[in-house]
Amino acid sequence: MSCQKTQELIHGYLDGELDLARSLEVEQHMHECEICARSYRSQSTLRSSLKNDLLYYTAPEQLKKRVRFSLRKEAKSAVSRRAFGWRWLFVGASLTFMLLVGVVVWRLAPRFIRPSGDELLAQEIVSDHVRSLQMPGHLTDVLSSDQHTVKPWFDGKVDFAPPVKDFGSQDFRLYGGRLEYLNNRTVTTLIYQRRLHYINLYIWPAEQTGSTGEVTIQRQGYNLIHWSGSGMNFWAISDLNSVELQEFARLVQEGQSGD
Ligand SMILES: [Zn+2]
Repeated sequence: MSCQKTQELIHGYLDGELDLARSLEVEQHMHECEICARSYRSQSTLRSSLKNDLLYYTAPEQLKKRVRFSLRKEAKSAVSRRAFGWRWLFVGASLTFMLLVGVVVWRLAPRFIRPSGDELLAQEIVSDHVRSLQMPGHLTDVLSSDQHTVKPWFDGKVDFAPPVKDFGSQDFRLYGGRLEYLNNRTVTTLIYQRRLHYINLYIWPAEQTGSTGEVTIQRQGYNLIHWSGSGMNFWAISDLNSVELQEFARLVQEGQSGD
């Protein structure tokens, strides 16, 4: 089974929607292919983190209060019109119905509020970064501080040439490279080191030409900076403070334009 086919089936595999033969084929492929295995792990991490906290909202206290208040108000005015009788029963029934609809909407609404593409990508990158540091041997596929070793290593593995530069003299030492499956495609990853901090720099071709400015965000204690330029998308992530990570991002951008 090809990588592309496997990637298409990973969602179904995670949802348990594949038949036995297909599941076995996917498992077999992931057993042999580290890129697809990684992608599977990152999607399953992403899924469990989405399930856990992000998409579940309990009704805010304010909303509960408002519903109770309007119920009471309705009840009072209904009572003042006629103490008992069919009419009161009807009002009560329709209020109960409205309340039920309200509850259903609360519970279902979050399912339709999807995080944006960038937000999902940021989460994918955070979990990939964490995993790359947690698992021994997963940080690099090629371990070298020499850009002339790392750059050719990507040849034939991806259909684009990422800019590979060592910034050792500015204290951002090139540490190695690896391939990842992110954002539904294979991306190149460069690893840099400053003191005890690692930076993962993900690079893949941009859909549109032209460059966008840097966007800096924080997720789960990590700093992320992303931008695009020279036809590529760049995402850098590290536990390094944002000032130093910005310094790094600027070096990458300047290194690129001078190339
Ligand atoms: Zn594969």
